Amino acid sequence: MPDGSPLLRVEHLRKVYATTTGEVEAIGDLSFTMSHGELVCIVGPSGCGKTTLLKCLAGLLRPTSGRMEMDGAPVTGPSPAMAVVFQEYGRSLYPWLTVRGNVELPLRHKKLSRAVRDRIVTDAIEAVGLPQATLSHPWQLSGGMQQRVAIARAIAYQPEVLIMDEPFAAVDAQTRAELEDLVRLLHLTRGISTVFVTHDIDESVYLGQRVLVLSNSPTRVQEDLVIDLPSERDQLTTRALPRFTELRTHIYGQIQRARRGPAAAPRSAP
Ligand code: ADP
Ligand code: MG
Repeated sequence: MPDGSPLLRVEHLRKVYATTTGEVEAIGDLSFTMSHGELVCIVGPSGCGKTTLLKCLAGLLRPTSGRMEMDGAPVTGPSPAMAVVFQEYGRSLYPWLTVRGNVELPLRHKKLSRAVRDRIVTDAIEAVGLPQATLSHPWQLSGGMQQRVAIARAIAYQPEVLIMDEPFAAVDAQTRAELEDLVRLLHLTRGISTVFVTHDIDESVYLGQRVLVLSNSPTRVQEDLVIDLPSERDQLTTRALPRFTELRTHIYGQIQRARRGPAAAPRSAP
């Protein structure tokens, strides 16, 4: 599909969890669209329903109401076109498999020749900068390296959409900066459509071409903001731009207003 054509459409999504103590309305009324090739960040406070939204998108959780479409077809169950990278890297890799084995595993479901599979796996491991760790096991690697393996596994799978749920929340600041740059590089060089979820406003502005700001639970889209920063970004220069500060201050203000209640949220341009 060409870049810019519609990829995802979410319309009036609502998700209510039934619990033993009553109902929890995680997502109130949420709508947005995303095009092929976009890198969209979704930012919102902890507990606002970000993971719930991603699980619905990935077909892992059935919404209470609303519609989701991918490439014009309704999302009704787990989609082979999506790959998800979760926050808990420790639990997402198989400890008994090597790095190579972990990256290769999902490809076994695809009908590929051994040679093609090998090439894709090698390429993905190189793309995340881990060729020297190919034969290591996950427990021999740092948290940041484990998350690189999870990213390699996702890109090797060649998904239509790469979904990342606060993937760097548990690594140190330096590693996080490097992983953010890896996500940008992979997006720039491979054009993978990416949904990146974070509670970190600065991270959303640094990474995104667009940022969807979510309100507190029951969530809705508080703002859909185009990040008009240059596409070539780096940690030092980009974060020092006055426009970067303007955008992050604007989003911060939106989230503060959302906390104070839905009535107090005008949608002014930053
Ligand atoms: P976030 O990822 O933004 O931190 P979540 O999507 O995990 O938020 O959770 C949104 C809300 O839904 C929270 O109030 C959370 O407690 C609730 N919630 C999440 N999962 C469940 C579940 N399986 N059962 C009941 N409530 C849930
Ligand atoms: Mg979450």
